[in-house]
Amino acid sequence: MKAGVLAVQGDVSEHAAAIRRAAAAHDEPAAVVEVRESGVLPDCDVLLCPGGESTTISRLIHREGIATEIRDHVTAEKPVLATCAGLIVLSRDAKDDRVETLGLIDATVDRNAFGRQADSFEAPLAVDGLADPFHAVFIRAPLIDAVDEGVEVLASWEDRPVLVRDGPIVGCSFHPELTDDPRVHDLAFFPELEAGV
Ligand code: GLN
Repeated sequence: MKAGVLAVQGDVSEHAAAIRRAAAAHDEPAAVVEVRESGVLPDCDVLLCPGGESTTISRLIHREGIATEIRDHVTAEKPVLATCAGLIVLSRDAKDDRVETLGLIDATVDRNAFGRQADSFEAPLAVDGLADPFHAVFIRAPLIDAVDEGVEVLASWEDRPVLVRDGPIVGCSFHPELTDDPRVHDLAFFPELEAGV
């Protein structure tokens, strides 16, 4: 498996390690490449869009011509995991003119919706299809506030969706790369294996 990690801004190395962990658990050899300019993503089987600063990420992917390649990747139904700022950028609308969203996840999100007083917290999260809770780390997390029909909500926190699947894309508000648990990367990149467990 060749995995591209969008690396224009945000936490890249933790995701590269998490992808390798998930792949190793399935005995799947994984090459991880950083996507900083156009021409790299078309050769990748899966894509990871990490957290960071969604205004910056959105500006850079449009400037570098990567935005179109992300659209093509999704049209080809290749898997994507979009976390936090990545989720914001792939959503239909982030209700913020500074973020030019890609409209690939049929959901609207609120940036930094959990508010400053609770801008970072950790919580055990019940996830559809996983036997045990996932220890979720939220950092200035976006809130998914409306999902269209066809978007599957895999986990919610206080009645708010925080993990969704829309076709080949898994989007999450939290940071699954900050624990050793590979199960969210698994859900995104090895869905057929998860279903068979
Ligand atoms: N709220 C941040 C943004 O809008 C995302 C935070 C994160 O990725 N940890 O970009």
